[in-house]
Amino acid sequence: MTSIPAYFGCKVFNDRVMKARLSSNIYNSLRQTIDQGAKLDPSVASAVASAMRDWAVENGATHFTHWFQPLTGITAEKHDSFISPSPDGGVIMEFSGKELIKGEPDASSFPSGGLRATFEARGYTAWDPTSYAFIKGRTLCIPTAFCSYGGEALDKKTPLLRSMEALNRQALRILKLFGNDDVRRVTTSVGPEQEYFLIDRAMYDRRKDLIYTGRTLFGARPPKGQELDDHYFGSIKPRVAAYMEDLNQELWELGILAKTEHNEVAPAQHELAPIYTTTNIATDHNQLTMEIMQKVAARHGLVCLLHEKPFAGVNGSGKHNNWSIATDAGTNLLSPGETPYENAQFLLFLVAVIQAVDDYQGLLRAAVATAGNDHRLGANEAPPAVISIFLGDELTAVLDAIETDTPYSGVEKKSMKLGVDTLPLFPRDTTDRNRTSPFAFTGNKFEFRMLGSSNSIACANIMLNAAVAESLKCYADELEKAPDFHAALHDLIQRTIREHKRIIFNGNGYDDAWITEAVEQRGLLNLRTTPDAMPELLKKKNMEMLISHGVFSPAELQSRYEIMLENYCKSVCIEAQTTSDMARKQILPAVEHYASDVAEAAARKKILDPDLSCNYEKRLVRKLSSLADLIDAKTDALDGAIAMQRTLSDITEEANHIRDEILPKMSALRAVADEAEVMTAESYWPFPTYGDLLFGVK
Ligand code: ADP
Ligand code: MG
Repeated sequence: MTSIPAYFGCKVFNDRVMKARLSSNIYNSLRQTIDQGAKLDPSVASAVASAMRDWAVENGATHFTHWFQPLTGITAEKHDSFISPSPDGGVIMEFSGKELIKGEPDASSFPSGGLRATFEARGYTAWDPTSYAFIKGRTLCIPTAFCSYGGEALDKKTPLLRSMEALNRQALRILKLFGNDDVRRVTTSVGPEQEYFLIDRAMYDRRKDLIYTGRTLFGARPPKGQELDDHYFGSIKPRVAAYMEDLNQELWELGILAKTEHNEVAPAQHELAPIYTTTNIATDHNQLTMEIMQKVAARHGLVCLLHEKPFAGVNGSGKHNNWSIATDAGTNLLSPGETPYENAQFLLFLVAVIQAVDDYQGLLRAAVATAGNDHRLGANEAPPAVISIFLGDELTAVLDAIETDTPYSGVEKKSMKLGVDTLPLFPRDTTDRNRTSPFAFTGNKFEFRMLGSSNSIACANIMLNAAVAESLKCYADELEKAPDFHAALHDLIQRTIREHKRIIFNGNGYDDAWITEAVEQRGLLNLRTTPDAMPELLKKKNMEMLISHGVFSPAELQSRYEIMLENYCKSVCIEAQTTSDMARKQILPAVEHYASDVAEAAARKKILDPDLSCNYEKRLVRKLSSLADLIDAKTDALDGAIAMQRTLSDITEEANHIRDEILPKMSALRAVADEAEVMTAESYWPFPTYGDLLFGVK
């Protein structure tokens, strides 16, 4: 077996390959585009295209595709082969600069929320040179942005790149004020920790709910769940270990820095974390990771479930978005510095994030809102739907001292003079991390923990980058004009702490008392569901901010609002129909079958001995029969709500109907069906149980 360094990134047209295969002029010009966002010269594109083609063909590729991230949340590709007829009746392998730069997928079926009338259905894809091309199977994949002909973004990457640009612009203004003239670019980086479940394929194939919706819609609790916590960080079972090994190899070949893997809290739940990288690359890599996780699982007779809540009663899956800001020289701007000056700069970036999260809580919440994630946020396992920031005691004490101009014990009882005093060194890896906080400072980065396991990380990072860009912009506007920089800086930081400290909370986020305090005393938002959260996209203040930084246009925001609610409605409708289908076609017949066999057994016993009481059979049949009546009635009620849904035409109304009528009716039906499962002999139950699914992979 070849060593990891030997094959790491072997399927990526990365810097090493570019350096080796491009002339130095072309290479330098491309590097300018990648590193500094310089405009791409068309002649460069054609040279890059031919080098890319040669490399791809040598590595077994026959096709190329523009790889993009439409608003469906998954990635899309349309393959074209490199072949082009040659005069002698053969073919040559061709790939032009034009084909590299721009593609025109016939993409009329991707959601556009009205941005693209169907008569001009052809959106176009545009090469994103900041993310390396790679080979998947026999196809050269070129990461691209996807836009309409009017230039409106139809994907997640375009606004993500715009948000990174916005943050870069504003952060450079701030750094200049601190005398960092040599910094040329500021980027955000992300390390997303990905949770998932692995279950046996044969069992999955027997569950319509998993096949159609990615989650179980029925299932009584097994005798054992996650109460012993014996799975968390437990030893990895051989089948799972073989899967992880295979997965790592595929990810490494694609240059994805898969680093950590362990079992998670729930049985059959696992986590994979990569080493962090630039946000747009991290986003591409996370999409690829999710895709490859599923593909590799299939090879191992397994299914990888990325749904946020595949099983009721045990933890769901999320994604922790570790996020920080760094300069092109590699300085992490969220790392407390060594000198007083660096510390003042650190504190300014810190309060910029605090203000951003406070001011744009609604946008951050909306960015992670999906039907699947609604099952986690606010339930007793994931962060609550209320957003707050955990800073830890030490940093909170520093901010308190600044706010009140009082001495901070950490620096020998002196009052904090910004730009003069050195902050104590914060432990990089605070051990007492608060796992219940939705947004936690972890020494040199923030960890946004509300993302669902299947979410694209693009949405959360778009909002985060844009909101922080906005804080920085306000600060730069103020400080650039200030006659006395240090005095103004001190006032600004102090004022920001005063105005935004309501968002800081170091306690237990799962506590009901906190939710009450957050909403009633602190006025924080508690948006429990997707239909509650989505209107945030269209709030005046939020729209103005996103538009002013060039992250979204008004039409793009309107279309995203509609598409996100449409996704919500469609996915819950499929769940509702599957629930009804399973109840009628599988559960009721099974319960009937069992009840009738029990009744028959009693009748036979009576023939044998008329004096037998047969109380057990009678009670059981009565119980099963009344549960069957309930299942039937509740299925009728659900069907009625589904029929009602079809008469609604306004997307907001539809989403509200789903939240208020359909989802509660699904839960009510499930409750009685799960009760029937408990009463029914195992051999009669029509599909694998929770016990089978959760403990079935050895
Ligand atoms: P955990 O949160 O599980 O204790 P770590 O703190 O080691 O784990 O890291 C979690 C993730 O945070 C990893 O993906 C890591 O690469 C990422 N990370 C570390 N430093 C940064 C940073 N400066 N910016 C963004 N992500 C980071
Ligand atoms: Mg973490």
